[in-house]
Amino acid sequence: MFLAYYLRKDGYEVRLIDKDPVGREASVYNAGLLTPSFAPTPQLSKLQLLSAVIGRRGPLYISPMQVITHLSWFRIASGKALTGFEESTMKIGKLSLRLYEEFFSSENIDPDLAKGVVGLYRTVEDAKAFSTRFGGKLLEPAEISRMGYKGLEGGILVESEFSINPAKLFKQLRTRIQEMGVVITLDKEARLDDGARPRARYMLDGKVFEADSIIVSAGSWTRTLCNQVGFEPEILPASGLVMIYDTGGRRVIARPTLLEDYGIGIAQHDDHTLRVTSFFEMVGFKKHYGEGRKKWLVDIVSRHVTDLSKLRLVEEGIGFRPCTPDQFSVIGRVPYYENLYVASGNCRLGVTLAPASAYILRSIIRGEDCLDEIKPLLSPERFHS
Ligand SMILES: Cc1cc2nc3c(=O)[nH]c(=O)nc-3n(C[C@H](O)[C@H](O)[C@H](O)COP(=O)(O)OP(=O)(O)OC[C@H]3O[C@@H](n4cnc5c(N)ncnc54)[C@H](O)[C@@H]3O)c2cc1C
Repeated sequence: MFLAYYLRKDGYEVRLIDKDPVGREASVYNAGLLTPSFAPTPQLSKLQLLSAVIGRRGPLYISPMQVITHLSWFRIASGKALTGFEESTMKIGKLSLRLYEEFFSSENIDPDLAKGVVGLYRTVEDAKAFSTRFGGKLLEPAEISRMGYKGLEGGILVESEFSINPAKLFKQLRTRIQEMGVVITLDKEARLDDGARPRARYMLDGKVFEADSIIVSAGSWTRTLCNQVGFEPEILPASGLVMIYDTGGRRVIARPTLLEDYGIGIAQHDDHTLRVTSFFEMVGFKKHYGEGRKKWLVDIVSRHVTDLSKLRLVEEGIGFRPCTPDQFSVIGRVPYYENLYVASGNCRLGVTLAPASAYILRSIIRGEDCLDEIKPLLSPERFHS
């Protein structure tokens, strides 16, 4: 939708096709944190990747079947140990935050913007280690307790980053691009047609359509679409669970927070809405979390959030993060095609990076400069000789 927004502003005629009629995917079901600083954490080591295949204990789980069916993805991931992306991703993230600020100040859009993101740790040493590497203000245990938490000694506050209610951002952005004249086709599944290579075409309801540019920004389904024209973008889904509670009008926590030892996000958007998120499961497109997994999440939150009385669960959702094995997005032109582009693979940071990803692809389509030194790292060709 950010791509549609920027391209329409440039004067292009834009059509957006989404098979989901109402918005139930990752862009709605996520933690809503716009926080490049926390992008590098929690870090995933080779050992964690291996133990994630063995059992579901913490938030991470990888089904052995996924490993067997996607060997090349896991070979690249274990080679990189999912690190090495931090500095460049931070640069893209900073561009995104600037674009978000411009967007919020120029558009009449308010998705419960809250400034300042907190990372909490069991020990002060872990908070200090984060602060030394990535910055942020260290929090005293008394401040952490005033924010509504217990049993956590270390904390970091990154004042310049923020959180939003992603469901509101999704709805308001969609309304805005519609007002701007983007043609929106919902509840229809698009396909790609390679019959006219090097020109790609798209198909809808069995009809073939031409376009100057076709952009695949289909989250975890980007692979399915790209495979239709013989291209492998190396994007796999990693699911996560979102639980939304009504707090009965009480402020339960003072700031949007990441419980860094557990990979759990908590944010209160307004007087009533508390969002709790966790899990990174590579199990394909399975839309189910068992009671044991939910209990693990609720138990940790109960252990560390001081006042959970009167909370009422009002909504649950599952989102699929579109993940590449090297943690970089896939942004650029698809090999062998003149008019086919991809903007996807933002994995854990898709909301944070959405405006910058759109801006980078826009610059590629228009032949303009924008973070040119980073573009090769994002290139769709990088996994293929
Ligand atoms: C639990 C959880 C917490 C997260 N927390 C954060 C966070 O705090 N901050 C952050 O930055 N990111 C976070 N993320 C990641 C972020 O949500 C995703 O990276 C981002 O939403 C991906 O956006 P997307 O538009 O690429 O994909 P999606 O939101 O999945 O959208 C893809 C769309 O493409 C459509 N589509 C697919 N195939 C077709 C087709 N053939 N035809 C038509 N339409 C099609 C789908 O219907 C869908 O609507 C989190 C994710 C999860 C699951």
